[in-house]
Amino acid sequence: MERTLAIIKPDAVERRLAGKILQRIEDAGFQIRAMRRVHLSRKDAEGFYAVHRERPFFASLTTFMSSGPAVVLVLEAPDAIKKWRTLMGATDPAKADAGTLRKEFAQSIERNATHGSDAPETAAFEIGYFFAGIELM
Ligand code: ATP
Ligand code: MG
Repeated sequence: MERTLAIIKPDAVERRLAGKILQRIEDAGFQIRAMRRVHLSRKDAEGFYAVHRERPFFASLTTFMSSGPAVVLVLEAPDAIKKWRTLMGATDPAKADAGTLRKEFAQSIERNATHGSDAPETAAFEIGYFFAGIELM
């Protein structure tokens, strides 16, 4: 079993898509091991996306991610990191495969509905960023 950190981003929560996305997560066979609604501060978003701080879109991305409530989740499944990224689809919805969450729900490369960890080390950092060990027992 593997765990990954997923976020239903502020654009999707604002458009009342959280329920639909949670249903897709459960239909795909993930166990939801932890879940919380959070409204990130700008600093929280900057810390979460610190690997992107040199990117031209960093200011815009952290403004967006702190613009409203999001839902953070720990998902568990065999090969969860890759499985969740496959369900999300490509970062840019214009390039996302049919049937993926971003193809269906994203509005742009920035407002792209969901987040997923990209490797075991980032999953460990990102899960620890939002959840204490005791919440994952
Ligand atoms: P995430 O990390 O959110 O799961 P990702 O791994 O597919 O997405 P990253 O390259 O890590 O993509 O980018 C992080 C986030 O930054 C993207 O999900 C998107 O919201 C935003 N982003 C990425 N590239 C761009 C861009 N060229 N312009 C604007 N925003 C971008
Ligand atoms: Mg990423």
